[in-house]
Amino acid sequence: MRGPEYHQLRLGLPSNLGEGTLNRRGHSRPSLRRSQSNGMLFDLFEITRPVPRKKIARGRGLKFDNELTEKCRRMVSMLGLDPLADQVKVFWNLRLSSTAGLAHHSNAQIDLNPRLERFAPEEPERTLLHELAHLIAHFRASDRRIQPHGLEWQSACSELGIPGEKRCHDLPFANRAIKRKLAYQCRCCGIVVPRVRKLSRDSACYPCCQKYNRGGYSRRFLLEKISIKEAKSLVPEHNWA
Ligand SMILES: [Zn+2]
Ligand SMILES: [Zn+2]
Repeated sequence: MRGPEYHQLRLGLPSNLGEGTLNRRGHSRPSLRRSQSNGMLFDLFEITRPVPRKKIARGRGLKFDNELTEKCRRMVSMLGLDPLADQVKVFWNLRLSSTAGLAHHSNAQIDLNPRLERFAPEEPERTLLHELAHLIAHFRASDRRIQPHGLEWQSACSELGIPGEKRCHDLPFANRAIKRKLAYQCRCCGIVVPRVRKLSRDSACYPCCQKYNRGGYSRRFLLEKISIKEAKSLVPEHNWA
């Protein structure tokens, strides 16, 4: 296994977790279970079973972007990675909500959130390069396992002209007060994942998959639904519905 099938850049987290207002004031309460993993904040909490290639390409709500695809191809080609340049393609994914972008390693596809444009004109470009750096790092690593935002990704970011890129973007729409009606928990590390919509039954805890399964998806770390009451007691500062 090479690590997760795709890397997901989740906007606004960790501020999503403690909810924006708290984080903007610089508070962070210890009741949040995230520290149990290794004290780090993760920009990705769920990992789903890899989607078959056909499904990704044909999924509804995907709009192919020829211009951005050409742009990526030129950049990748300039780095001497022609096999990747031939494959890379960019879509606008209308189904993304709090996710800025996705990089699907298996078919060199980048999905962008159409809402990015609304908030800052430079955001689509930035996210595009962030995700492209994931594809480049993964391509170069071949079968070697790498950290999603490790050195390989960081150097690809520099080559693409975004040195010092952060692993996680903070955009206004990530901080809006969404009331999350659903909660899931990893029984392994205890992390609580607030959700607006139902998670697929196959969603597993990403930090645990990273820690115990080298980033590969494993059903051992399935996220289980918990009651809102329980979620409130575990993460009282979150903006629960
Ligand atoms: Zn990333
Ligand atoms: Zn976990």
